[in-house]
Order: sequence, then C-alpha cells, then structure tokens
Amino acid sequence: MIPFLDLHKINARFEGEFKNSFKDFLDSGYYILGNQVTRFESLFSDYCGTKHCVGVANGLDALRLILEGYKHLGNMKTGDEVIVASNTFIATIIAIKQAGLTPILAEADAETFNFDVDKLPTYITKKTKAIMPVHLYGQIANMDTIQALAGLHDLLVIEDAAQAHGAEYLNKKKAGNLGDAAGFSFYPSKNLGALGDGGAVTTNNDALAKAIKMFRNYGTSTKYVNEVLGLNSRLDEIQAAFLSIKLTSLDADNSRRQKIALRYIAEITNPKITMPKYKGTPDHVFHLFVVQVDDRASFIAHLTENKVGHLIHYPIAPHQQKALPELKDLSFPVAEDLHNHVVSIPMSPVMTEDQVSEIIAVINRY
Ligand SMILES: *Cc1c(COP(=O)(O)O)cnc(C)c1O
Repeated sequence: MIPFLDLHKINARFEGEFKNSFKDFLDSGYYILGNQVTRFESLFSDYCGTKHCVGVANGLDALRLILEGYKHLGNMKTGDEVIVASNTFIATIIAIKQAGLTPILAEADAETFNFDVDKLPTYITKKTKAIMPVHLYGQIANMDTIQALAGLHDLLVIEDAAQAHGAEYLNKKKAGNLGDAAGFSFYPSKNLGALGDGGAVTTNNDALAKAIKMFRNYGTSTKYVNEVLGLNSRLDEIQAAFLSIKLTSLDADNSRRQKIALRYIAEITNPKITMPKYKGTPDHVFHLFVVQVDDRASFIAHLTENKVGHLIHYPIAPHQQKALPELKDLSFPVAEDLHNHVVSIPMSPVMTEDQVSEIIAVINRY
C-alpha cells in the first residue's frame, strides 16, 4: 500500500529534536504565548520576508482575524463584500462569514485551479472591499493581475496561503508577502505542518498586526483590559517549538515535491489523465498533486485495487454545500466540472523514487 500521505514518516525525521524541545518546554513552566511563539513568529516572518507574523490557533482563525482586524481599523464594515475562489476549501468562505462579511464567489480557471482573472472584474461592486486569492494546491494565484485590479478599485488583497508555504512568485517574493495580509494554516498535512492545530497571519501592516495580537487574546493588549470582544485563538507554545524545527526543512521538502511533480508530469503518459501544467518554477510547492479524469469512479477503483492512496480535493463545491444555502442558486460551470473530475494522488517529501515509479506504472496501466 502506498499511503496518500505518511505523516508519521514526515515527522519521524525530527523525532530527536522534537523530544529535546519538549523537554525544554516542560522545564520552562511557560505554556501559553511564551518564548516559543515569539521565536517562531520571528523565524516565519523572516522566512516570508514580512515585517510581522502573528501566531494563531488555526488557519480559519488566521483568515477571520485578518478581516476582524481590518474592520477594527475601519477598512471594512459588516455586510461588505469579499471576492473569493468558488473552488476553495470551505474555510476561506467560513472565515468571511464569521467576520460578518459577504463572500462573493468567483469562477475558477481549469488549468491553474485559481481565479479566472478575466472574469474577476465582473464581481466588483460598490461594496467590494477585498479580494481573497487562494493559492490552491500550492500554486500562487495570478497576483500581478489581481494587484492591478485591486489598485484600480482600492481593494485589499488578502492571501489564503494555507496550501502554499514557501512558494515564490515571479517577483521573488514569497506567499504571505504578496498582498496586504496572508493567512497560513499549520494543520499537520500542510507543507509546514504542526503536530496539532496552528495558524499564522503575515503582514507588513503594523496596525493590523497589533490589532490581530489583541483579537487573538480576548481583545486585550494589557492583561484584563478588554478593548474589543476578541477570541481565544493563540498558537500553542509546543506547536510553535515544533514548527521552528520543521521550518528549517521546508525549502528542501518543497523542492522534493517539485521533483516528484516533474517526474509525474514527464512519465504519466496515459491520455485519459489530464496532468497539471508545470515547468519547474518556484511558484508552485505542490501541497497536492491533482489530476483530472473523465470517469473518476473507475479511476479511483483502479487506484484502490492497486493500493495507491488517493483523495478528492474537494468533492462538493462550496456553493452546493448544505451549510451555505444562500449560495445554492449560483452556478460556476468550471468549478463544478473540477469538483466532479479532480483526484489527488500521493505527494509528499518522504516518498521514495520506487514509490513514485510504482504510482506512475499503476496510472499508466489504467
Ligand atoms: C487548511 C486550509 C484552511 C484552514 O486551515 P485550518 O488550520 O484547518 O483551520 C484554509 N484555507 C485553505 C485553502 C486550507 O487548505
């Protein structure tokens, strides 16, 4: 069996360092918002090239707190609109709704899985305050076009970078430093994953970083003085310690993912499988390797029979989810088609060349 993602193998590489850091953590007697969180925030902002990083409890809260922060600063108010990808993981949309804003879903591009930038201007109204590109599957969205459009209409650009840690855009800047603010998730399966939940906001905006630090901790900057009604959404000390250790391997892990992607693309030659377009550039870190196939059920049966792990990201379009009844009459033909035909095949930095060869052979036999 080739697992879809072997998280144990990914983390076993750091076992000795994790154990040492756990001992230090235990001995410190300091378990919430201590030195480990501060240290990780500084390492991760340096890594992304941003002025600030604020550690929070998870990726959903990172996105939500950016929006709460901007509302607090007066940049947006309840009922304002945020343009978001119609084929994103639902968390992006939940964050917008939790912040009291209105998600405006935008059609996807079948080749990049990101915004269809030609359609993007058609979603802008007087109430639009932000565009939220999602670097889906690890590929940076078309930020030049998005920034130009945002500039024209005075909109904020908020990246959902939860799948794109370490991806580098054409201008050499990293995901997390391509807009006004970015939300990251450190859910265990992400390219930079904790051993539990975790998230962060990166930004170059001093006032926003300050507001988010307040919101993540009940709305207090000074203990027991509450300026706003905040959340309890703090990055855990021990997760921060683990993340600081794992950050040192992120670049090497991402290049391993890119090499596997290039092998898949060169060697999977089955005409029934539509492969992602990729030429080896650093703007894609392959959080997921997603192919498209007409008869998904039979392809999945073939993978199962041949013991190759697989998942679907994602089987139901957000606007067709029961949880979002107000979006049910919307129609996004491209996004809906993707939801019906995508399959994710194994992708991780700890796969062996033999496993990659086996997966290629199985898929070519389909
Ligand atoms: C994982 C993910 C999130 C949410 O992160 P959590 O840490 O699970 O809350 C948000 N957006 C995208 C695109 C994701 O992949």
